[in-house]
Formats: sequence, structure tokens, C-alpha cells
Amino acid sequence: DIILLNESYVPRQEAKIDIEDRGYQFGDGIYEVIRVYGGRVFLLSEHLQRLKRSADEIQLALPLSLDELKQRLLELTDRTKLDEGIIYVQLTRGVAPRYHGFPDPAVKAQLVAYTKPMDRPLTQQQQGVKAVLVNDIRWLRCDIKTVNLLPNVLAKQKATENGAFEAIQHRNGTVTEGSSSNVFMVKKGVLHTHPPNNLILNGITRQYVIQLCSELNLRVHEQTFSVNDLLQADEVFITSTTSEIIPVIQIDKDTIGEGRPGPITQQLQQAFDQRIAELKTK
Ligand code: PLP
Repeated sequence: DIILLNESYVPRQEAKIDIEDRGYQFGDGIYEVIRVYGGRVFLLSEHLQRLKRSADEIQLALPLSLDELKQRLLELTDRTKLDEGIIYVQLTRGVAPRYHGFPDPAVKAQLVAYTKPMDRPLTQQQQGVKAVLVNDIRWLRCDIKTVNLLPNVLAKQKATENGAFEAIQHRNGTVTEGSSSNVFMVKKGVLHTHPPNNLILNGITRQYVIQLCSELNLRVHEQTFSVNDLLQADEVFITSTTSEIIPVIQIDKDTIGEGRPGPITQQLQQAFDQRIAELKTK
């Protein structure tokens, strides 16, 4: 397997990360996960813009321009002959003697990217999944896509241990987002999802779905809602790059709506499918 390590494409086995890489020691880094459908990279510019934003928010200087990074990721996708799957790209603040403050003088950010074949989760999309509720114990900059994912790891593990697909987080009863997804609910034909502020990651799929809603004349309220509202919703679904749109039909012991994927969720799934089909033929 070929991966991208800074400027070079190298076999994965030959890639070495230093023990004092700040991503490894402090979680001092950022990342993106990007979908590839039929060899075409989906929403690449949007993901790169978000990566740049994450970099700026943690004062990490990108070692290359977004245009150069784009070219490298496209080349990586070609070189690995990826058809259906994902690109993972991460940047850390670099390698320096362990000290919490930024290295002074600054060192070069370390870039790693690799691709991985991954099927679309069609079964979960068709049948819907279970979720569990967990306390959102994260920090107050969830808008930054950092590799510091321990609270998300613990949340997802709770889901797994309970036979659920995702953990839906809430802060004092206000629904924020999933452990690795955004959460939407439908009530009386209107969609609701947490506003894009410091308490959630503004998902690229979330933004894409909101765009689809406007094209389909579906109303979306980007406003907070409670766990109670969620449990009484007509439909609930999660969105993410890897999941796309997955209906949630049960949360803890509560059935959502009719206990099967709802009509608005399915309408959005169909529109999403259509866009992917179009991308593949472009
Ligand atoms: N929220 C969190 C915490 C995530 O980790 C992710 C993605 O992994 C998302 C939301 C969904 O974001 P996107 O649609 O950009 O994949």
C-alpha cells in the first residue's frame, strides 16, 4: 500500500512516525475524512477548506498550499487505484522535544494521508440503526476537527457495548451531535439540527444535506432541541462522510416514530444517491 508522508509517496511499511510527534504525544493535530465514489473525490474543496479552518484555529501553519494538497490527494487516489472508499488526511504540529507549548522555533507540520477501500453502509441506510444517549463530556471547541478524540472514542464504545451503531451526545439535555456524526430530527415535516457553533463539528455532510433540503423545499431549523424533543421526533437520522444519511429508529429503549426509516429521511437518501450516481458519470 502506498501512502503520502509529507512530500513522498512511500509503501505503508516504510512510513515511520517519530515518538515525539506532537500528534502522538498531545493529540496536537487535525484531520479530514473524504469520500471517494467510483474514483471521484466527493466534496474535496469543502473538506480542504475545513482543514484550513481547523489549522487556523489551532495556529498550525500548513506546510503546503491547499492547491498543492489537493493535487497530492488526487495523485494518492490515482496511485492507490481507489474506487469506492475514503481518503484520510492528517496534519500534526510536528516533531519536537516534549513540551506543551508550541515548538520554538516552529518545526514543520507532519502530513500523512492514505486511502482505504470502504463500501457504502447500504444495509444500515435501508434498515436504520439503534443509538444510545451519552453525556457530551467534550471541550468547548468541538468545531475544530482535531485528532483529540478520546471522548468520542468512549462514546462510540458505549454504543458498541449496547449493540448500537452510534452514540448521540447531549449537553445538559440539549442534543449536540453523534460521536462521529451530526444529528437531525424531523417533527411535523420540519427538520431540526444543532446550529453550527463551538459545540459541534459543522459536518460537510450536514451542510450538504441542508443544501439538499433547500433544493427539495424542506424547511430546516438550525436550532437547538432537547433529548425529550429527540425521543418524540417523527424521524431521526445521522449524517457523516462515511455514513452519508443513516436513519435512527431506536434510541436507548425508545422507538423513534414508526420504528422504521421515515419518508423525509428516505427522500433525502434518494436525493443523495442521485448525486453520487451523477458524480460517477461526470
Ligand atoms: N461530528 C463529529 C464529531 C465527527 O467526528 C464527524 C465526522 O467524523 C461529523 C460530525 C460528520 O462530519 P462530516 O459530515 O464532515 O464527515
